[in-house]
Amino acid sequence: MRTRVQRGTVLVAAGALAVLAGCGTSAPKTAPVAAQVSPSEASSPSPSAAPTSAASTPSPSSAPSPAASKAPVVQTKGLAGKTIVIDPGHNRNNGQHTAEINKQVDSGNGMKACDTTGTQTNDGYQEAAFTWDVATRLAGLLRAAGAKVVMTLDADTAWGPCITDRARIGNESGAAVVISIHGDGGPAGGSGFHVMEPGLNGPIKEPSHRLAIAVRDSYRAGTGLQASSYIGTDGLNPRTDMGGLNLTTVPKVMLEAGNMRNAGDASLMKSPDFRQKAAQSLVTALSRYLS
Ligand SMILES: [Zn+2]
Repeated sequence: MRTRVQRGTVLVAAGALAVLAGCGTSAPKTAPVAAQVSPSEASSPSPSAAPTSAASTPSPSSAPSPAASKAPVVQTKGLAGKTIVIDPGHNRNNGQHTAEINKQVDSGNGMKACDTTGTQTNDGYQEAAFTWDVATRLAGLLRAAGAKVVMTLDADTAWGPCITDRARIGNESGAAVVISIHGDGGPAGGSGFHVMEPGLNGPIKEPSHRLAIAVRDSYRAGTGLQASSYIGTDGLNPRTDMGGLNLTTVPKVMLEAGNMRNAGDASLMKSPDFRQKAAQSLVTALSRYLS
């Protein structure tokens, strides 16, 4: 989210004052980064990825989907036996716990709030509801493919957890990879998704970049959504101000799955069909990264 847009935006939600603030705080429009996409990485389908394992795509929602028959093939190679941490951005109860989530914590590059409320669509569909739904769909698909899934919060988590705890869970779980799921609160005229990746130098920077490319390519192909028109470079956005990325010792990216303040993106993100495609595309992304 771009707090530049929303900081100080106070609205009455569910009977409580909630300050809408997000994850991608003060996200600058990044200048093109020269080394961001090497030609070898930029090509989408790797030849080795050709034998995709069968499209067994159990739908956790079990909602009959008219689009199911034309759902993209989900690749699950390399997932069995791997531990994957899923970090659903924010918590739908954060608005009732402002004191707790506003506590300042060390983000690894300055102090930041423990967590934020996240954004929402103009008609009130919360980012936290979106991230939770996509995360639980993704968890179901990954478990069906034989992966061990660890979530950074569960349905009973009262608030947060803090970005420091979200990172710690990833670091201490023996995970091969961590994926954090968000929705952005960008300018209404901007649309599309972007993938935030670690910008600080360190051992997880390069593998996280490969993960970011896998997520970008699979998400774009699997959902049909285009890369962001208002931030990043071709869907990638290296960041040094995100605690969740600064504190991780495991390869990790944060997906901003669309702009919830854009009418077109919001309409998609409110659709269970789209969220299922999003989850399926992330399965393929993780498979491509891990296999
Ligand atoms: Zn967020």
